[in-house]
Amino acid sequence: MEMSRRHVKEFRPDEALGLISADREGKALPCPSCGAATVTRSPARPGHGHPVEGRVSLTCGTCGRVVTYIDRGSATPASQP
Ligand SMILES: [Zn+2]
Repeated sequence: MEMSRRHVKEFRPDEALGLISADREGKALPCPSCGAATVTRSPARPGHGHPVEGRVSLTCGTCGRVVTYIDRGSATPASQP
């Protein structure tokens, strides 16, 4: 068992990409690493489909893996300045 450093466990890049793209599409995915349906989104997704821009963390409560990305609220083709 590797215990060399205290380090936040992260998803592999392909796992992280899948999780992020699913989250951007408004889907909830089970953890791509351990398969548990315990992935918690922070901040919580608003219930009315209104995209919120900002930092989003997806954390698996079972294996502890974390991925963070910046949600630009790209669900709609924004034409704001
Ligand atoms: Zn997991």
